Amino acid sequence: MQVHRLPALSDNYIFLLHDPEQKIAAVVDPAEATPVLRCLKELGATLVAILNTHHHADHVGANTALLQRFPSAVVYGGAEDRGRIPGQQVFLHEGDRVSFGDRTAEVLFVPGHTRAHIAYYFPPDHPDDVGDLFCGDTLFAGGCGRLFEGTPTQMVSSLSKLRALPDTTRVWCAHEYTLKNLEFALSVDGNNADLQKRFAEVKAARSRSEATVPSLLGTEKRTNPFLRWDDLGLRSIVQADNEIQTFTRLRGMKDRF
Ligand code: ZN
Ligand code: FE
Repeated sequence: MQVHRLPALSDNYIFLLHDPEQKIAAVVDPAEATPVLRCLKELGATLVAILNTHHHADHVGANTALLQRFPSAVVYGGAEDRGRIPGQQVFLHEGDRVSFGDRTAEVLFVPGHTRAHIAYYFPPDHPDDVGDLFCGDTLFAGGCGRLFEGTPTQMVSSLSKLRALPDTTRVWCAHEYTLKNLEFALSVDGNNADLQKRFAEVKAARSRSEATVPSLLGTEKRTNPFLRWDDLGLRSIVQADNEIQTFTRLRGMKDRF
C-alpha cells in the first residue's frame, strides 16, 4: 500500500491509499475532489473507499462529488457520526476492521475533538515494516485537536490509545500545523532537547515549503506536550495536581496561544 499525501484547502492533507496491483485506491478525509481526481487519473486507479475520521467539512467536503464519479465507493465513518457524514454507509465502532487491498485497518474510537471521531490504524504487514495511523484531528504533529465536542478526560483516553502504538508508527494527521504547534510546545517545555532539535528541523523544512507529515509516533511521545500529560516536569510547569489537570491546562494555554 502506497500513501500519497495531497495538500488541500489552506492547510489540510488528504491521504490517498493506493494498491498498484489491483489498481484501486482509498482516500482518507477528502476535503476537496480536484486533487483526489487528479491523483487517481495519474495512477489509473479506481476509488473503492472513502475513510472519514469525523464529520467536519474540511474532512468530508468532497464525499458527494467523489461518489458521483465513483458510485460504488464505500463511505466509512464512526457510528456516532450517523447523519453527519455525506454518503456514509458503514458505521464503525472501536475494534472494527476495514480492509483495503491486502491490508486491514483497525478502528480506534478516539472522541475529544468531536464526540464521534475515529482513527484508522494499519499495523505493519510484516515484522520489519512500520504501521500507519490516520488520526484526523485527534493527534497532530506536535499537538492535538481542539476539544469541540469532548472533555479532557475523553481526549486523554483517546490519546492513550494512540500512544500505545509502536514508536515506529507513521502518524498521518490531517493538517500542516506542526511549526505553530512546536512553537507552543517550546513555550512550555523549552528545556526538552529532543523538542529543540525537532523545532529546528521543522522550521528548516517549512522554510523550504516541505511537508512535516507524516511524523513518527516515537518522536511525538518525546516532544508533543499533548502526549505527555503524565510528565512530572510538565505538571509542575503548568502547576497542576494530576494528569487530567495537566492536559486541561496545556490545552487551555494552547487555545489562547
Ligand atoms: Zn476537525
Ligand atoms: Fe480539520
